[in-house]
Amino acid sequence: MNAGSEYQQLRAHLASLRMAAAAEALPALLDEATKAASRLTHQAFLERLLSVEVAAVEERRRASLARFASLPSPLTLADFDFGAQPSVDPKLIAELGTLRFVEDATNVLFIGPPGVGKTMLAVGLGHAAVAAGMRTYYTTAADLVARCHRAALEGRWATTMRFYAGPRVLIIDEVGYLPLPAEGASALFQVISQRYLRGSVVLTTNLGIASWAKVFGDDVMVAGAMLDRLLHRSVVVNIDGDSYRMRAHRARADAVRKAVAAR
Ligand code: ADP
Ligand code: MG
Repeated sequence: MNAGSEYQQLRAHLASLRMAAAAEALPALLDEATKAASRLTHQAFLERLLSVEVAAVEERRRASLARFASLPSPLTLADFDFGAQPSVDPKLIAELGTLRFVEDATNVLFIGPPGVGKTMLAVGLGHAAVAAGMRTYYTTAADLVARCHRAALEGRWATTMRFYAGPRVLIIDEVGYLPLPAEGASALFQVISQRYLRGSVVLTTNLGIASWAKVFGDDVMVAGAMLDRLLHRSVVVNIDGDSYRMRAHRARADAVRKAVAAR
């Protein structure tokens, strides 16, 4: 085989192995390998070629994890202003950001009134998990319940339960904003139960733990059983500061008032 047909054969191999990035990098790398100045060893050449492909595969994987995660905002933990929220311990959030909690399927609960940054922190953990290559999924409690409801009607219950069991990190936002119908409560209960000790749940709620029965239509049994599973291995972050949104409104209002007073 001459060099030309060898090259064609090599391109064909890379194409049939779907190694598009390596195929694209091949001509330049071959040039470099044969240049007197940089003569690459066989080993170094192969390493360079494969590392181009590995990087491309890695990048595709990361992008697909990010798409799947459906995180509703691009803000990360680094964007969180701890000065504005003294009830949140930066050291605790930094520890959570290492994602060690995922290793033993610990759950994280952010509890507090509206606007204090619960969603931002949960989503920030989601971005960290995606960056670490973990399968992550964000949903609101209302969406989860609606999807389970449709699944039950369409005979896809088992598949849907497997879907929520799959991600290593499942973020369930806004539990407790709306009271759940009995069927919704039992869907949420089943999702939590099947993830118990297997995969982390990051959950946000405006309800103190004592008022959880309310979410479940005052079904104290279901609420208790769910709390047992959620809290057995968990980190609870209580946030009791001012709403960040209101804080911004107040700052603007204060500025306007001062400007008016100064006139
Ligand atoms: P919650 O989920 O508790 O209702 P959010 O996380 O939605 O609150 O926060 C409300 C808004 O304020 C969001 O735009 C969020 O990015 C912003 N925010 C809240 N707390 C902080 C903070 N400590 N630093 C920066 N932005 C914040
Ligand atoms: Mg929120």
